[in-house]
Amino acid sequence: IEEKGEKSEAPLDLPTDVKSGNLETAPKKVDLLIVGAGLSGAVIAERASKEQGLTSLVIDVRDHIGGNCYDYVDEHGIRTSKYGAHLFHTKFERVWEYVQQFSRWIPFDHRVKGQVPDKDGVKRLVPIPPTQETVNTLFGETVASEEEMQAWYDAERAANGEEAALSRVGPRLYERIFKHYTKKQWDKYPAELDASVLMRLPCRTTTDDRYFGDQWQALPLHGYTRIFENMLLHDPNITLRLGVDYFKERAAGTLPDYGMLVDTGMLVYTGPIDAYFAQQGMPKLEYRSIRFEEVWVPEPEEGYFQEAMVVNYPSADVPYTRIVEYKHVPNQPEAVKNGEVKGTLIAREYSSAEGDPYYPVPNPENRALYERYRALAEAEDHVCFVGRLASYKYFNMDQAILNALEIYDNYKEQGKFAPKR
Ligand code: UDP
Repeated sequence: IEEKGEKSEAPLDLPTDVKSGNLETAPKKVDLLIVGAGLSGAVIAERASKEQGLTSLVIDVRDHIGGNCYDYVDEHGIRTSKYGAHLFHTKFERVWEYVQQFSRWIPFDHRVKGQVPDKDGVKRLVPIPPTQETVNTLFGETVASEEEMQAWYDAERAANGEEAALSRVGPRLYERIFKHYTKKQWDKYPAELDASVLMRLPCRTTTDDRYFGDQWQALPLHGYTRIFENMLLHDPNITLRLGVDYFKERAAGTLPDYGMLVDTGMLVYTGPIDAYFAQQGMPKLEYRSIRFEEVWVPEPEEGYFQEAMVVNYPSADVPYTRIVEYKHVPNQPEAVKNGEVKGTLIAREYSSAEGDPYYPVPNPENRALYERYRALAEAEDHVCFVGRLASYKYFNMDQAILNALEIYDNYKEQGKFAPKR
């Protein structure tokens, strides 16, 4: 595809009115007021414009587009994700077709290593999710076929069965790879979380050491931010304003024609659902955040800090969950790919309860509380709640895109996304 701004790396410098969040110069009436310029907000704005010619004002409290997918080229020339590594993968053909419109993509099979003690307590680097190599390295086995690996799992599991990870891999891999990583990431042990959280990872009997199993796995040639630029910046139906706090503006009455919203348009809200209903006095929903400790390593041995883009640290004695080294990915700018950038940037991830919400915490208690919020949301028929934070679902990027596309279809069919002016 022809990419706008192809010659330059994202992010593009945005117009002053966009950056400064100037609402004075924004249209006073729009079909959709969209809160959040992440995947969900961008998909709705893009579809509403392309399919129906609807106008949107997209606002975001942050000073950039792209939500947690936002990436940029740092002062050393390395493409860096502000909110941690994002590896796109999908089995949904509709999503794969859709995202091709906004970027060229480089195939990339993500592979993760974990630093894990073996049976003698020596720390070894092994594939995660577990493969034949993982059990051979950790337990001195000689597993060499799928049948042998299946037999190994079967033997390991013999005494257990109650709980997802345990019942899949048995107690020894569970202890080494899942138990403490999960406690660090969620401040909960796997038993306190929905099985779906740990079922995100495959457990292989083969030698395939890719992290994901999906048919399409790729990275956008110029980063994720370029996708959002292509969705939001070149369309006269879409107005973008950054650094705008929806709740503040709503209280001040400075949003476009919000009072007449029922007649003139819809609100599309992609923020945390409990923040939207903060006045109701209900308990807050639980979210997890991540603190990133970025370190520039000027002279790494052989050019890299570590062996893989992501190395997990599943043991309890290391405070972070994983280290990401951006240099490994194939969608780095040319200067990185051809070896001109000698140093390397790493980011250690520390999970925390404080900070911007990144992850909902899937378990029965939180789901029950979310259901109470959902009931409130259903009564707001001029508001469309969409996305990971507003629907409190642990979506991957492709699932967020698909969900937004489907919600758009749905609302359109019901006549709720329609030109009203
Ligand atoms: N997980 C684990 N050990 C690992 C990797 C993952 O226990 O080495 C568990 C952990 O509970 C984690 C979940 O699997 O939160 C999902 O992992 P994923 O890498 O998909 O998490 P994300 O990339 O969304 O942070």
